[in-house]
Amino acid sequence: MQNVAPSATKAMVARTRALEVEGHDIVALTQGEPDFDTPVAICEAGVAAIRGGRTRYTPVTGILDLREAIVGNLQTDHSLVYSPDEIIVGCGAKQVITNALLATLDPGDEVIVPAPCWVTYPEVVKLAGGIPVIVDCLSSPTFKFTPEQFARAVTPRTRWLVLNSPCNPTGAVYNQRDLVALAEILRMHPHVAVLCDEIYEKLVYQPARFASLAAIAPDLRDRILIVNGVSKAHAMTGWRVGYGAGPVSLVKAMATIQGQTTSHTSSIAQYAALEALAGNQSHLDVFRDTFRKRRDFICDRLNQTEGLTCRVPDGTFYVLASCSALLGRRTSDGMAIDSDIDFATWLLESFGVAVVPGASFLAPGHIRLSYAASKDEITRACDRLQAACETLAVEAA
Ligand code: PMP
Repeated sequence: MQNVAPSATKAMVARTRALEVEGHDIVALTQGEPDFDTPVAICEAGVAAIRGGRTRYTPVTGILDLREAIVGNLQTDHSLVYSPDEIIVGCGAKQVITNALLATLDPGDEVIVPAPCWVTYPEVVKLAGGIPVIVDCLSSPTFKFTPEQFARAVTPRTRWLVLNSPCNPTGAVYNQRDLVALAEILRMHPHVAVLCDEIYEKLVYQPARFASLAAIAPDLRDRILIVNGVSKAHAMTGWRVGYGAGPVSLVKAMATIQGQTTSHTSSIAQYAALEALAGNQSHLDVFRDTFRKRRDFICDRLNQTEGLTCRVPDGTFYVLASCSALLGRRTSDGMAIDSDIDFATWLLESFGVAVVPGASFLAPGHIRLSYAASKDEITRACDRLQAACETLAVEAA
């Protein structure tokens, strides 16, 4: 346990809540979840499951109807052919990822994790006895991991490459060309599997287009675990439903672990997820269009703020902004801002705006802002950020 760090995002959210409870007016752009309510029809499906007595244990890998709906979506959206016994439903994508790593890592096995990244990956790798091999993509103009970086990082002990597209926290989306190039190098290293975390699949902004490695390189299909879920796309974070699609042998091993731990996610949540995946999908466009407008707005404001710069992300509801130009400056009360952690802490404590320090995503010198907040909240946060950065600029002069 000494090697495993607690979730830093959750720590920032907890500090924000504590300040709010004390009566401080905080604008939080820390959320890793949509600010929308779960669509009514999905909630009603959950209620109907309760009323209809569908409240007993389900199969470990999830109810068949839900697994069939997942298979149907993989076919419709990406022409991918899976069977229900290649699908496992768990308590969020997080449990699916944990199961996969617990099922496959021997002590000392390596997992390549391109960074900036969602820090759960390296921490769960360690929890499963493996070694995270962090590859820094922070200085790349696109934040994307390249075949050359893979070639330098791969060893005979590499078990997995983690590919998160769209990426939390950068919002980078791997396009068809990126994936074709990665597939080429992966073919030369057949001992490496790929964990494709596609949880933000539905949050990609045109002209960018989502692409799935399994569809681009069908010959690699049996080395790929697709991870996805309903949390982000359908505003269902609290329902805890995620899923994996991969080869039967892997899914079976993951089911053994899940069967001896949580068994399965709530039966009620599974019926709600079935409605999300097989029912009316019109909320997806509404959510995406809303996030897109907010993305454009927040990126404009950040780039107009003294000392901050950001690239416009192609997906997710996050933007990673560089604050490196502000580091080394002092606040008006003499506090040194030497790191993104200092900066984020000062923003929260002195200006009431909560963001997550980039260090939490292995992105030092940056902050992550979530635009899963109302236009009004984003505006107020940007006003405060601007005011804060201006005081730093004055101090430095
Ligand atoms: N993958 C990524 C990249 C994420 O950002 C998150 C949520 N923060 C998850 C997986 C987990 O989602 P859930 O467990 O809610 O399905």
